[in-house]
Amino acid sequence: MRFGIAVRVWYSRGAMVLQAEFYDITVVGAGPVGLYATYYAGLRECRAKLIETYPQVGGRLISMYPEKEIFDVAGHRKILAAELVRELAAQAMQYDPTVVLNERVTGLRILGERIIELATPRGLHYTQTVILTAGCGAFVPRKLDIPNLIDFEGHGIYYFLKSFEPLRGKRVLIVGGGNSAVDWALSLDEIASEVTLCHRMYKWQAHEAMVHQLLASHVRVKYPYYTLKQVLGEDRVTGAVIWNERSGLEETIDVDAIVLSIGMLTNMEPFRDWGLSIVGSGIAVAPDMSTNLPGVFAAGDIVTYAGKVLLITAGAGEAATAVNTAKEYILSGDLGR
Ligand SMILES: Cc1cc2nc3c(=O)[nH]c(=O)nc-3n(C[C@H](O)[C@H](O)[C@H](O)COP(=O)(O)OP(=O)(O)OC[C@H]3O[C@@H](n4cnc5c(N)ncnc54)[C@H](O)[C@@H]3O)c2cc1C
Repeated sequence: MRFGIAVRVWYSRGAMVLQAEFYDITVVGAGPVGLYATYYAGLRECRAKLIETYPQVGGRLISMYPEKEIFDVAGHRKILAAELVRELAAQAMQYDPTVVLNERVTGLRILGERIIELATPRGLHYTQTVILTAGCGAFVPRKLDIPNLIDFEGHGIYYFLKSFEPLRGKRVLIVGGGNSAVDWALSLDEIASEVTLCHRMYKWQAHEAMVHQLLASHVRVKYPYYTLKQVLGEDRVTGAVIWNERSGLEETIDVDAIVLSIGMLTNMEPFRDWGLSIVGSGIAVAPDMSTNLPGVFAAGDIVTYAGKVLLITAGAGEAATAVNTAKEYILSGDLGR
């Protein structure tokens, strides 16, 4: 038996009275974590709706790295990001959730006990509980303060690689020392003619085993304290000046493309406006994934707590916790049966 029922929600809004379908759990954001939350909500026999801004599901795995291999998802030694999304989507659809694409949730209001209204430019959605799995919210790639960098965007400067094909046989410089930078470098090692990676910290932010693979690969690694100083070229990138911030030593290298993989700048203001408690660049959650708003839970890259890791597997675990807590919350109310 499905847990939820379609009920009419009546409330006054000026002279208007609205009527809508009512869900047990509405998941906001169809990245890997939102897809898993949707599956798990079905498993717990909750009536679920999934709302996503873009016309497709998959989050950053599709918008930023569909062709990259992922090595750290439970149960897969390695899997292409796009393939993992296909699996997650098929798993999520098993319990027949309502999926709403092309709608960005722009507002959240608590109308009463276990009645939450979500607004999108296309209309309103009603639900007993919400699970926010909106990734890092609105984000833009972090850039370097290099005067002509923007001129080369679309002409050899990349912030992420949707496809490796344009870089086949090319000389590539990767800037960064986190998981993404190291993974890009290893993926391109077989595809590009030459790969250089420069990293400005002493400590790597990537998984140790992947760093060791990198150091054993053909990739030329310039580290520590190396970063990009200047982009060279006329119509498109033909070279780069990298320099050691400590010694001041500069090196000019011939490259056809530069991948800047130095993180994202996130904007959590919209979520703050909804009344959510924001700490740093994430929504503050309790260990049961509840937020400060009643009936609103969160999981995945959008949450913050001590020890939080930005990984798909961690987000999936949080999604299961969020759904279980949401179900308990629903059962504790008048509508629970
Ligand atoms: C280049 C790169 C490589 C990575 N490699 C790995 C890896 O190998 N292994 C690993 O575990 N992790 C990896 N990660 C991290 C991983 O991608 C994230 O941890 C994961 O995507 C988080 O999933 P999520 O569902 O929380 O967020 P996201 O994937 O960001 O999905 C959030 C979704 O919510 C939607 N959304 C946002 N706001 C709204 C709104 N208001 N209304 C409706 N929808 C909304 C977005 O459009 C998006 O589809 C990598 C990250 C990057 C950038």
